[in-house]
Amino acid sequence: MATDDPMLRTDGLVKEFGNFAAIDGVDIAVQPGEFRSIIGPNGAGKTTMFNLISGGLDATEGAVYFDGEDVTDLPPEERIQRGMGRSFQISNIFGGLTVRENVRLAVQSRMRDSYSFREALFKPTGRYDDINDETDEILGRIDLADIAEEEAAALPYGDKRRLEIGVVLATEPELVLFDEPTAGMGPEETQSTIDLIEEVLVEQTLILVEHDIELVMEISDMITVLNHGQVLAEGTPEEIADNQDVQDAYLGGMTE
Ligand code: ADP
Ligand code: MG
Repeated sequence: MATDDPMLRTDGLVKEFGNFAAIDGVDIAVQPGEFRSIIGPNGAGKTTMFNLISGGLDATEGAVYFDGEDVTDLPPEERIQRGMGRSFQISNIFGGLTVRENVRLAVQSRMRDSYSFREALFKPTGRYDDINDETDEILGRIDLADIAEEEAAALPYGDKRRLEIGVVLATEPELVLFDEPTAGMGPEETQSTIDLIEEVLVEQTLILVEHDIELVMEISDMITVLNHGQVLAEGTPEEIADNQDVQDAYLGGMTE
């Protein structure tokens, strides 16, 4: 693998439902460490795009490359094993477990692969220290160390989101896809959730679908605008804000 490969690349991606192309020839390239947002009106194909990236849907045509490798024909679990974070709309926490147990379980599920059976058998203490240390570190980073012994189900909404992000972090993904993680939140909670994602997932490559355009403009390195399953525009927030096609088709009255 060349070091200059994008973290994620799609090549001529097409997804047809019957005669209708929900994704109609999309090429994108997201660089390692980039914060990319995908915006576009309802029905533009954003969720379909995510499903093609994660493997939840099979592409009709085209290819998906992750970390330089063609993953187009791989099932979702294998893409996750290679470092694609789970999408976020599916809740990933267990309500009946404590905050700590949730994080610990996620750390453990990743570490399982990195310890041999022999090591697990003869050196269990070291292993458990590692797991506990990392669990503590993540609890600190998501700012939930104080309430680590509380049951996840009893947490207020905002803390649940923090825990969800902690669980994602614990699996050490290279790429994390967020499909409208702030759906149903008010402006303040939206802002703090996005801030947290930015603050906790510093090293990860992030692709976000988010409705709050002002926020997207603030946080993104690059923005892709989808419309009718095609890339209408792509660029930095400044380029997107100045793009006449985008203004006509989508941003409408968004002027300063
Ligand atoms: P977005 O997330 O941008 O709102 P979607 O990707 O959910 O858009 O949908 C894009 C288009 O594809 C829409 O017209 C939607 O109705 C259609 N679509 C999505 N999933 C399916 C499906 N499973 N079967 C048929 N049409 C679908
Ligand atoms: Mg959607």
